[in-house]
Amino acid sequence: MASEKEAALAAVPSDSPTIFDKIINKKIPSNVVYEDDKVLAFRDIAPQAPTHILIIPKVKDGLTGISKAEERHSEILGHLLYTAKLVAKQEGLDDGFRLVINDGPKGCKYRLYCRYSSLVDLDIKILVVGQSVYHLHVHLLGGRQMNWPPG
Ligand code: ADP
Repeated sequence: MASEKEAALAAVPSDSPTIFDKIINKKIPSNVVYEDDKVLAFRDIAPQAPTHILIIPKVKDGLTGISKAEERHSEILGHLLYTAKLVAKQEGLDDGFRLVINDGPKGCKYRLYCRYSSLVDLDIKILVVGQSVYHLHVHLLGGRQMNWPPG
């Protein structure tokens, strides 16, 4: 029987709605920093830097990730990057910043979160392997020195 990690690595990217659709449709709250008719930029719920913003297309159009890009997506891809530059300026990231697009199971570090509540004696483990939200997103990270090579 496959381990949890193997099962997650074998997961097929889905084109079905994600939590980002709920954010776009304002069904769940988010901290929006920029919006136009094509893209939305909002603060990441689990920031990995003092500034951590996600920039996403409002219409997914099959863009579950950058590996699914087709020529028809060229305009929106350019607009996402241009928006990242605008938002970096808006956030005052004048000394530098990083843009990241992770793709697929091996595109991002394997993470294991363990949370323990002494009140109810509960041990929760959440396994995250790679991309978990299959709606293309550009991470804008800044406000601290970025390292190279990335982990
Ligand atoms: P990767 O981190 O490899 O790009 P994920 O698909 O796991 O792949 O990234 C999803 C990102 O979306 C994560 O950084 C996560 O913290 C962020 N995120 C998930 N849910 C929300 C939310 N409701 N509001 C803001 N950010 C969110």
